[in-house]
Amino acid sequence: MAELVPIPLPLLLRRAFLEYEREGKIFDLPKGKFFRGLSGLDTSVRFHGHAASTPLGPAAGPHDQLVQNIVLSWLGGSRIIELKTVQILDELKIPRPCIDIINVGYNVEWSQELRLEQSLREYVGAAMFIEILKASKLLGEDFPGGRGATIFDMSVGYDLKGISSPRVRAWMEAMKDATAIINELRPSLTGPWARYRDLAYPARISDTLTLSTFHGCPAGEIEGIVSFLLTEMDLNVCVKLNPTLLGKEHVEHLLHDVLGYCDLRVTQEAFDKDLQFAEALEMIPRLDRLARSRGKRLAVKFSNTLVVKNHRTFFSDEVMYLSGAPLHVLTLNLVKKFREHLGLRTLPRENGETSSGGAISLPEAIPTSFSAGLDSNNMGNCVAMNFIPVTTCTDLLRPGGYARLIRYMEKLGDKMNALGATRLPDFVVRYAGQGEAAVERVTHDLKDSLRAQFTGADSAQMNAAQAWLDGHVATHLKKWVRDGQGVPLRTVCAQIEAGAHHHAPLPGVLAGSLRGALSGLEQALVDVAGVLNTPILVKETTENPRYAWEQNKGVPRKIGSKLWLYDCINCDKCVPVCPNVANFIYETTAAEIAYDNFLLSLGEPPQRVPGGIFKVAKTHQLANYADACNDCGNCDVFCPEDGGPYIEKPRFFGSLETYRKYGGRNGFFVDFQNGETTVYGTIAGAAYQLSMNNDRARFLNADAEVEIPPRGGAPVSWKLKSGVSATTYKLDMLPYLQLKLLVESIRDPRRVNFANVGGL
Ligand code: SF4
Ligand code: SF4
Repeated sequence: MAELVPIPLPLLLRRAFLEYEREGKIFDLPKGKFFRGLSGLDTSVRFHGHAASTPLGPAAGPHDQLVQNIVLSWLGGSRIIELKTVQILDELKIPRPCIDIINVGYNVEWSQELRLEQSLREYVGAAMFIEILKASKLLGEDFPGGRGATIFDMSVGYDLKGISSPRVRAWMEAMKDATAIINELRPSLTGPWARYRDLAYPARISDTLTLSTFHGCPAGEIEGIVSFLLTEMDLNVCVKLNPTLLGKEHVEHLLHDVLGYCDLRVTQEAFDKDLQFAEALEMIPRLDRLARSRGKRLAVKFSNTLVVKNHRTFFSDEVMYLSGAPLHVLTLNLVKKFREHLGLRTLPRENGETSSGGAISLPEAIPTSFSAGLDSNNMGNCVAMNFIPVTTCTDLLRPGGYARLIRYMEKLGDKMNALGATRLPDFVVRYAGQGEAAVERVTHDLKDSLRAQFTGADSAQMNAAQAWLDGHVATHLKKWVRDGQGVPLRTVCAQIEAGAHHHAPLPGVLAGSLRGALSGLEQALVDVAGVLNTPILVKETTENPRYAWEQNKGVPRKIGSKLWLYDCINCDKCVPVCPNVANFIYETTAAEIAYDNFLLSLGEPPQRVPGGIFKVAKTHQLANYADACNDCGNCDVFCPEDGGPYIEKPRFFGSLETYRKYGGRNGFFVDFQNGETTVYGTIAGAAYQLSMNNDRARFLNADAEVEIPPRGGAPVSWKLKSGVSATTYKLDMLPYLQLKLLVESIRDPRRVNFANVGGL
C-alpha cells in the first residue's frame, strides 16, 4: 500500500498555473466550476466572529487533507474549511479500502494520514496557495473579488491526553502563528513564483477548532478537552456531537420504520458509551459560560457519523461509520430535539455579537455547524436553519467530485432570488414562513428584558418604550416580512436603530440600553427564525422520500469487464471522484503494433523471432499518481469495470524513493533530467528501466541492458547483467514498447498532471 506523500508547493503551483493556461482547469476542475459569486447576492456569514464569504465547506475528511484538496474545495466555493482531524497518533495504519459510497455512504476512515508536521505544512501551504492565486490574478481581476473571505477551522482528536500533549499543543500554536513555517516555505518559491516570496501571508492560519472525539468518549473527557482548548489554547471551539444523542429507539425508528434502511443495525454499546443527552444539556451551557468568561465562542456541530454493524464485505472491520442520506434525517431530528431544549437563550448583545455585559437582552441560538448528507438540494434548508457552516463530504465523493460544489451555491442563489432575499439573514427569516413569529419573539423578549432590567423605571416611560417596540419596531419588521422583498433586513434594522436615536420617546439610560440591544436586532431575528424553521424543515425532510432506502438503494453499475494497464470504457468517473486528484487522463497513440522479439547471441547480429501484437485501442487513457493516492477505494466503487483504477492503471510515483518502496506490481517513476527522460517501471511485478533522448533509447530488464534506436528496430548493442549466463538471450520487446508508449504519452505537454509537471 502506498503512503500519501505531500507534493511540494512549487510543483503544485506549477501544475495549477500551467494547467489553467493550457487546459482551462486547475487540478482537473474546469474553470466553469469555480465559484465566482452569485450576481447581486451576498452569501457571507460570520463564524466564531470571523467573516466568511459563504457558509459552505468540506467537513473534516478526505477533501481537506492535502493542499490540492483544500484549494479545490475553495475554488468550488467553500469558505469555511474544516481541516482534516489531526491527532497525536500520527502513524496509524488505517484499513484499506476505507470509503464505500456504494449508495448511502460508509467509511472506516479516521484522522489525517500524514505526520503532524506534514499536516501543518499542508494547511499552511494551502493558505499560501490561495493567497498566491488571489495575488496573481490568474483567474481574472475580479476573482475572487469580495468573495474571498475564508476561514480555516482546525480539527483535533481524540482525547485530552493526546490533545494536551506537547506535540499537539505545539501544532495548534503553530496554526495560530505560522510565521516560522511560512518563512520556511518562502525560499521554495523560485522562478516564476519568486515574486510571491515576500507576499504578506496571514500568519494566523486558524484560531478556531472543531473538536472530534472518539465514538464512546465520556462526558467528562469531552468537557475537559473543550475547557482546555478554551482556556489554555485560547481558541474558539465547536464541539462535534454524535447522532447517538437521539437515543437508540428513536434512531432505529427513523432508520427502519420511517426510512426503510432495515439492513442497518446499530449497537447498544455505541449508545451506552457515548455522551448522554441529559449530560449534553448540562455540559453545553456550562462550556458556553466558560467560553464567554474567556471572551471566546462555543458552537456545537451536528453530527459525527453513526456507528453501524458492517453488513457488507467491502471493509473487514466489524463496524463502520454511516453517512449520507439516512444520517441527514437522523441529524436533523437530533438538531430539532436539541433545539427543543437548548434552542434559544436570551443574552445581551452589542453590535450584532453577544456581549459579555450590557443590560437589555435579545434571544440567541447556540451557534450550530452542520454535517450529515449535505448536498445541493438540501443546502437551502440547512442554511435556513441557520447552520454555519454547512459542511459536506459524502456527496463530493460521488461522480463530479469538487465540481458538485458550485451547484450548492447556485441552488442556494435560486432560492434566495425566489424569496427576494439578497443576503442570507433575509433568506433565513423569510424561508419557512416564520418571519412574523420571529419578530414577535424578539420584541417579546426585548420587552421582558426591559421590564426585568429596569424594575424601578417610571411606568409611563416603560409603557412608552414598550409601545414603541410594539408599534414601531414590530410593525416595521412585520411589514418588511410581508412586503419588503428587495429591501435588505439590515436596512430596516438600521432604520429602527436610528429611530431609537432620533424619534423614539425613550428617556435616559433606558433609551441607551435599548439602542445598544437593537444593534443586535438582525442577528436575533435570524437566530429565532432559524430555530423556528427547524421543526418545519425537519418534518418536511423526514417525510421526503428522497432520503428513504427505496430511493437510495441503487448501486453504481458494473459492466463485468476487467481493467488493464491500457484502455477502458473511458467514462472518466475515476478522475473527479478522487478527493486527492490522484487519477488523471493522458493521451496516447492508439496503435496495433506487431512486434518481433530478438535472440541476442555473443558476436552475432540480433536475430528476429516472432513476438506478438501490442495493442492500444484508445487514445484516451487513465493513470494514477500514487503519491497522492491513499488506496481509499472510492474510484473502484464508481468505476464500471472491475479491478480498481488505482490498482490496474499505471501508477506513477513522485520520486525514485517512493517508487522503489511502493511500486509493487504496477508502478512507474518518470525522471526528467538533462534532456533525457528515464522511466522506471514495474509491469506485472517485473522491473524495467528505459532512458530516452533524441539519439538513443537504453532499455534495462532484469537480465540485460540494450540500446535500441529511438525510432525502433533491432538492438544496436546489448550486454547481459552480471550473474546472467546465457550464450543466447531472448529479449521480450513488449515491456519496452509499453514503457516507450507510456513515457512518450506522459510527457505530452498539452496535458498537465502530477507525473509530468516536473518535466514541463
Ligand atoms: S485514486 Fe482512488 S483509491 Fe486512490 S485516493 Fe483517489 S479515489 Fe482513493
Ligand atoms: S478506469 Fe474505470 S472509472 Fe476510470 S475512466 Fe476507465 S472505466 Fe471509467
